Amino acid sequence: MAPGAATSELESFAQARGVENFLISFVDLLGVSRAKLVPKSAIREMEIKGAGFAGYAAHFDMSPADPDLFAVPDPRSVIQLPWKPAVAWVASDLYMNGKPVQQDPRRVLRTQVEIAESKHLRMKTGVECEFFILSGSSDVHQLSDRLDKAEKPGYEQIALMRRYDLISEVLHYLEVLGWKPYQADHEDANGQFEINWEYDDCIATADKHVFFKFMVKSLAEKYGLKATFMPKPFVNQTGNGTHCHVSVWDTSGEHNVFLDKQDKLGLSTTAYEFLGGVLQNTKSITAILNPTVNSYKRIDGSTTLSGSSWAPCSIAYTGNNRTHLIRYKRPENFRRCRLNKLLCSIPDGGRFELRLADGAVNPYLFQAAILACGLHGLDHHVHPGPSADWNGHLPPPEGKAVQILPTSLAEALKEFSASATLRKALGEEFVTSYSKIQTERWRSFTQHLSKWEIDNTIDC
Ligand code: ADP
Ligand code: MG
Ligand code: MG
Ligand code: MG
Ligand code: MG
Repeated sequence: MAPGAATSELESFAQARGVENFLISFVDLLGVSRAKLVPKSAIREMEIKGAGFAGYAAHFDMSPADPDLFAVPDPRSVIQLPWKPAVAWVASDLYMNGKPVQQDPRRVLRTQVEIAESKHLRMKTGVECEFFILSGSSDVHQLSDRLDKAEKPGYEQIALMRRYDLISEVLHYLEVLGWKPYQADHEDANGQFEINWEYDDCIATADKHVFFKFMVKSLAEKYGLKATFMPKPFVNQTGNGTHCHVSVWDTSGEHNVFLDKQDKLGLSTTAYEFLGGVLQNTKSITAILNPTVNSYKRIDGSTTLSGSSWAPCSIAYTGNNRTHLIRYKRPENFRRCRLNKLLCSIPDGGRFELRLADGAVNPYLFQAAILACGLHGLDHHVHPGPSADWNGHLPPPEGKAVQILPTSLAEALKEFSASATLRKALGEEFVTSYSKIQTERWRSFTQHLSKWEIDNTIDC
């Protein structure tokens, strides 16, 4: 807030838009959204001092003896809820004892963005958040649409239209918010959908990612349904991925430095080195991109009812082939479109798609991990090696070898905490805190007695 200003930015926002209450929101280490509802009469003070929270009540490496955590709202992120316009959501940055909290996921991302800026670079990304629509009335998780049972339900028109009310409401709100939505479809699993909007600067994309999940879940509840982004809610169905499309630009945001039309994949040296950094450190960031016990059921290469998991299991890159960790979008120099009855060209390309993350990924840590690895690749001129132009769901051709992803959260956490690159890039405190919180989750899982163990061990 500008010193001496009569009204704060959020106060002015409330006045102009008729907002009564603000959700001062943050995301903890496990990606859970937490918030306090603050009336417009109190927002001015909160904008300066922040809203107080007990950090131990969320997933942070904190104790009940720690002082208050203050969530200071960032007015640049404010969004009026299109379905409840009396409320506005605002992302915040976390402080304790007047200092930024090093394990705050949004802070971890901002630090990477500042490092990129110091190198005159800006990462822009688009995320594809898949989700299932389940029945909202049952305690057992089950699909809401009993007619949605085709073996290959991808792009099914009739099943998409049975959920038209919910999906079109989301599309409409994305339009109202100015996010430039451009498509929605039924995905490869029964009951699974995806809605796409345009890419943005990576912090803005992370904020939108958090808000999108909140919006879809809230609207589903309005229709008596339940939306889930869980990585693999049904063992025989395709899981919920969260692909991320990545490009890097100069600081003006006008020039895509990944693009080189002379190259066979349309990529510059910067793009290859950035990609090299991501591939070299994939095992270390898997614990971030696939952060739950359940995540590893999606990426283990098992087949599904539709015939494909659509998820990678090996660490490789390729062209327009959906079986590897990274897919490059080649420039389509003369993709034809009809605009004012004239044929025009839309150069595409200059970006890659990272297909590893799933619906449980923490939106801020996701972007931070990609950027940190990419910058490492640039600093060390890492080359990704040759592309893997074969079906990644089959064994590699003779003479070719690929590295395999961690197969469990425990294995991924070992790689994560052993990574000197991540400790240097993301900070000791963050890496230690994230490892601790996630190791506790893993222990909570291993102490759980499953039906599988009983079935397979009772007669030993
Ligand atoms: P697909 O299903 O083919 O993987 P989608 O159309 O579902 O792709 O999603 C593509 C995402 O990539 C969108 O969010 C889109 O805005 C984004 N995107 C397009 N161009 C770029 C770019 N240059 N940099 C980053 N993201 C991009
Ligand atoms: Mg209290
Ligand atoms: Mg898509
Ligand atoms: Mg998809
Ligand atoms: Mg995709």
